[in-house]
Amino acid sequence: MLTTETFATFIANYARRLADLQETLNTLDNNIGDGDHGTNMARGFKAAAEQLAAKPATDVGGACNTVGMALLGSVGGASGPLYATVFMRFATAWKGMTSVDATNFAAGIAAALEGLQTRGKADVGDKTMIDVWHPVNQTLQNVRETTTLQAIVETADTAALATKQRIAKKGRAAYLGERSAGHCDPGSISSAVLFEELVDATI
Ligand code: ADP
Ligand code: MG
Ligand code: MG
Repeated sequence: MLTTETFATFIANYARRLADLQETLNTLDNNIGDGDHGTNMARGFKAAAEQLAAKPATDVGGACNTVGMALLGSVGGASGPLYATVFMRFATAWKGMTSVDATNFAAGIAAALEGLQTRGKADVGDKTMIDVWHPVNQTLQNVRETTTLQAIVETADTAALATKQRIAKKGRAAYLGERSAGHCDPGSISSAVLFEELVDATI
């Protein structure tokens, strides 16, 4: 169950995973971008985890708001405002809730996807994190049961790896055109890891 406490655990664990994956994500971004995705994500979620620990929230929405603001304040790249949008949409969807049921959880993911698409204007298949968020949302809308949580992780991991063959249409990688094929999208990998940690802390 996603609660104020399990959400804080999720952010702390995700920040740790990103610190461990920093070099890997930088290498992925170096293939098709400017090589800073790991640095951006590790810095942003370190700040988010620290701010959440310093000022614990009283509801899940409040905690999401703290994370969104921390990301906005600490990450300059494309991923900063995009992940901030995700958490600001969660903040609205889960405002005042100390625990989030399956229906509200699915509504939050749907709102986050909508926010990402409004902000980034990317479609599915453009080799961006949308390629992960879109199928995860579909999985959640299809079956809203506890077992769905494990299905989310499988969907996200498979979708992130499937970005390898795509040609980028949005973000820095789009400058490479066909040469972007053959490398995974770094933001899709960091999104898949987000779902791994979210489900792990929530289950
Ligand atoms: P920057 O590209 O500014 O250096 P990052 O390297 O931190 O920022 O993030 C790059 C990631 O952001 C990409 O791998 C991609 O998943 C995501 N991204 C870039 N542009 C968009 C967009 N328009 N919509 C959705 N995601 C995007
Ligand atoms: Mg980059
Ligand atoms: Mg950059």
